[in-house]
Amino acid sequence: MNSQTYIDLENQYGAHNYKPLDVVISQANGVWVEDVDGKKYLDCLAAYSAVNQGHCHLKIIQALVEQAGKVTLTSRAFRNDQLGPFMRELCELTRYEMAVPMNSGAEAVETAIKLARKWAYEVKGVPRHEAEIITVAGNFHGRTITTISFSTEPSYKNDFGPFTPGFVTVPYGDSAAVEDAITANTAAILFEPIQGEAGVVIPPAGYIKRLREICDRNNVLLIADEIQTGLGRTGKLFACEHEGVRPDLTVIGKALSGGVYPVSAVLSSRAIMGLFKPGEHGSTFGGNPLACAVGRAALKVIVEEKLVENSAALGEYFLEQVAEIPSPHVQEVRGRGLFVGVELKPEAGGARRFCEALKDRGILCKETHDNVIRFAPPLVIDKATIDWALPAIREVLNMK
Ligand SMILES: *Cc1c(COP(=O)(O)O)cnc(C)c1O
Repeated sequence: MNSQTYIDLENQYGAHNYKPLDVVISQANGVWVEDVDGKKYLDCLAAYSAVNQGHCHLKIIQALVEQAGKVTLTSRAFRNDQLGPFMRELCELTRYEMAVPMNSGAEAVETAIKLARKWAYEVKGVPRHEAEIITVAGNFHGRTITTISFSTEPSYKNDFGPFTPGFVTVPYGDSAAVEDAITANTAAILFEPIQGEAGVVIPPAGYIKRLREICDRNNVLLIADEIQTGLGRTGKLFACEHEGVRPDLTVIGKALSGGVYPVSAVLSSRAIMGLFKPGEHGSTFGGNPLACAVGRAALKVIVEEKLVENSAALGEYFLEQVAEIPSPHVQEVRGRGLFVGVELKPEAGGARRFCEALKDRGILCKETHDNVIRFAPPLVIDKATIDWALPAIREVLNMK
């Protein structure tokens, strides 16, 4: 079957809740993907940073296959021999005391919200069911009813209400607005250290540090959603480390499995995580042995292949090179590590046509919102590959 047949099938039988570029991928390895016609592309999206370790990383696939032949799911009604080691390795790498395993990112965000509310009632003394959580404009935390309840993006929430109460929203990057929004019932501040879906939006220097101080002063928990920014994407293990900040809860997902299987987690202290008592939270698949085996291998690859360091070094190089491209269309180039956003001028005609043109030249990117091209290749990319891509990027940024 050719590309068009697959596209037609998907359009006929699958819901149209995405608007994908029309490339039908059938194979992938490392930073490269191949379509059904045998054409190769450099993947500069990496499945929204889930594939940081590169596609089909041999060690992660081996862990998957090996574990799949032993036991895949026990449910948490019983124990399995992968969960304990995975939790220990995850906590040792991230220097948190405890973790709770989930599957999707949105589920892990909801888990963090449940924990923060429970902490508010049991530790802070907020009257039951009156806890408030402060969120910021432009956020993306997933697609569940609760996570869209505090979205500020009309297309994410139009026609999906009524929404979950208990959230207030303030502008991103404005710590004074956060402080003003705090009441006696505030349980937590939930934020992304860099807003990926909003277009790689980097807050003003000192913002994260100020959030930490505001939380400390007001007895409020700081929750960082590092599902996209975490595990090396920005050149640090966590983006909050750029300001030396340790949130009370950090939410991770995506690259926690190297894109091989849905694995997410919330990281926290023993004091906070200990608030969950048996029966109060759970997931049939969360912490299953297949997920744990994959997660263990994925974390090992990040460390062994020095992906955080590679992201920092090559990210700096890539950002510098792209920023130097003279272009009539570019408003701003910004980034941290291998997380780079090219914001186009409003009159450039939107990022979509630039992504289509990049695709024709063998580079896969996706527009975020209307005017930003996001470059976020797998962190295993090397300099030679970046140098291969730069002329095509230069050409596209200078097209009519
Ligand atoms: C992708 C993402 C999510 C949601 O993760 P899912 O696995 O799609 O539910 C939440 N927050 C951020 C910052 C993300 O990038």
